[in-house]
Amino acid sequence: MKNRYLFFDMDDTLVKCSGYFYDVEEIVAKKFSEFNKEYSVEEIRKKFNDRQIENIEEHGYGPDNFKYSLMQVGSEIVGYDFFKYDLAGFISQTAQRLYDSPLELLDGVEDTIKYLYEKGYEMYIITKGSKEVQTDRFNRLPIRSYFKKYYVVKHKLKKDYEEIIELHKFNPIDCFMIGNSPKGDINEAKLAGLNTIYVPNEYTWQPEEEQIIEIEPVTYRAQKFSDIKSIL
Ligand SMILES: [Mg+2]
Repeated sequence: MKNRYLFFDMDDTLVKCSGYFYDVEEIVAKKFSEFNKEYSVEEIRKKFNDRQIENIEEHGYGPDNFKYSLMQVGSEIVGYDFFKYDLAGFISQTAQRLYDSPLELLDGVEDTIKYLYEKGYEMYIITKGSKEVQTDRFNRLPIRSYFKKYYVVKHKLKKDYEEIIELHKFNPIDCFMIGNSPKGDINEAKLAGLNTIYVPNEYTWQPEEEQIIEIEPVTYRAQKFSDIKSIL
């Protein structure tokens, strides 16, 4: 079979993820704005977002960086009351759901993955973030048995794809990368010569958004996850 190797992104492609971050951010931003009325909830959210991006290099992707950035911004905006009212404790408690929440498969994922597995595709996951957090998430993934292996990388760059492809001695043209991030899942994979399928998600984190580059091989666009069946 041609194109028999499929690589999937995990967060917001197979499972719900950013939606949970969005909810926690909302609760915490509202709390901070009660302490400092000079900032609207939207302004606080913007600050969180900018801070998270600044902190990626040091703290990576995922809930740890998210929590740390909330604490930093909170202590700046709220000042002394941040410590007086233990808002750090409030953040930790609110953000705990990011670690505990069950992995909820997105629409059509279970059926489609099962179908592809039965068709004989060899399937892998490539996810980025902290090794510990993502390993735990993978282990809680109800469909994990369909995947041959998973990889956690620090960023998703062209070289990360090249390394993984090289490790397996695959030809990039026999591989597909499938994901919701135009930047990490699509463009960087394209630069490494893989085929790509873009599956948009309404909560895709803003730094992951960019224009899909117009180089061969052409990127397929799935309106919904189950469209992958007819694309492959
Ligand atoms: Mg994703």
